[in-house]
Amino acid sequence: MSRRSFEATGHVSRILLLATTTGYQTRAFGEAAERLGVELVFATDRCHQIDDPWQDAAIPIRFYDEAASVDAILEAARQRPIDGILVVGDRPTVIAARVAEALGLPSHPPAAAAIARNKQLTRERLHEAGLPVPWFQTASVTMDPDALAASVVFPCVVKPLALSGSRGVMRADDPAAFREAGLRLRALLESPDIRAERNDAHQTMLVEGFIPGREVALEGLLHHGALYALALFDKPDALDGPFFEETIYVTPSSLPPEGQQAIVDAVTRASAAIGLLHGPIHAECRVNEGGVFVLEVAARPIGGLCARALQFDRIPSPESRIPLEELLLRHALGESPDRWRREPSASGVMMIPIPRRGVLRGVEGLDAARLVDGVEDVRITAKDDQVLVPLPEGASYLGFIFARAGSPATVDRALRAAHARLQFAIDPEVPVVQSRHG
Ligand code: ADP
Repeated sequence: MSRRSFEATGHVSRILLLATTTGYQTRAFGEAAERLGVELVFATDRCHQIDDPWQDAAIPIRFYDEAASVDAILEAARQRPIDGILVVGDRPTVIAARVAEALGLPSHPPAAAAIARNKQLTRERLHEAGLPVPWFQTASVTMDPDALAASVVFPCVVKPLALSGSRGVMRADDPAAFREAGLRLRALLESPDIRAERNDAHQTMLVEGFIPGREVALEGLLHHGALYALALFDKPDALDGPFFEETIYVTPSSLPPEGQQAIVDAVTRASAAIGLLHGPIHAECRVNEGGVFVLEVAARPIGGLCARALQFDRIPSPESRIPLEELLLRHALGESPDRWRREPSASGVMMIPIPRRGVLRGVEGLDAARLVDGVEDVRITAKDDQVLVPLPEGASYLGFIFARAGSPATVDRALRAAHARLQFAIDPEVPVVQSRHG
């Protein structure tokens, strides 16, 4: 059925997918594209190590060189015309928007994608639009934290402008913690892998008021300016710092309907303030008695394997259930999201946190974890012998647990029970001693 809908014209549609690497998320898009009869073209910035799971030559680009990347994609698109664009991860969102603009495809405007990717610009836009934001100020990463501490109200949050996944985000309750957080963020932003991004935004840090409250994430699709809320996730673990490791996402939200509506309204206004218009969005919000504080609206879908928590049924007859990736491909080809609704089951994912720095030696209890009622899968993505780096410096998880059940509370319990059955053997890291003879 689905295949016919995009092949009926005799023209096989082609979608460009911009991604950091070809990993599990791009594979999920590849599978969805195959089911849909759509051709996927990748553009990635790992020219020398392209893993090509779909035997489809990826377009090599460099995310830091946006103009050259746009040109390379437009050149490739002359040979193989593109009907739609999707993006995975924060870094290529502006390139995607510029390519879409050049090709006349509906998308988020490039300026909006640039604002969404920068926490300072996002704060400024939301503030100008009269939306609730914490107090905020910026500082050079080379600033003296002790000098700045005098103008800071505690508790505050120190964060980079352009990293994601809570990387580098730290709470400070007093000048001593502020100093430590500032120096730690500076060390992270001056580390080789962040410098390799060649992003000027990494020379600045944002300091802002700590917003207490519960946290939710909204996965949405903007369709020519109208927001379709695909899923509202509760984050049942308190995120009070000092670091902000996300663990569990569960949908549907247990907030009352008016509370959920307030979040959808806030994200709608925040998206409009940023200028986002058409395409996937992923928003993070803090909710307390002062209202809904939109922390960010990213111009891309939920990251990594978490998308597997989302499946959709066609309205009114749920004859086929599709994953988020298929919904996004359909949208990229112009289909309205109004014909799809998230499945009736509650669903959730646990991003398995890295408990401490060290070397992963093995995982036990996988079979037992998979046997927990409601658990659908446990995927360990960290590799044996891999050096594990926890937040705030780290950028990965040990893996993911997925559960589906009748209620969000049952999903939450299943995820925790499965996690409790896993044991990770993590050895201390042995310092590398440089041989003088080597
Ligand atoms: P990222 O893009 O890396 O996820 P965010 O700015 O969204 O960065 O921050 C990551 C997490 O840190 C948020 O999900 C939230 O839990 C916490 N956080 C960030 N800023 C604040 C704040 N001002 N008050 C309270 N918590 C915050």
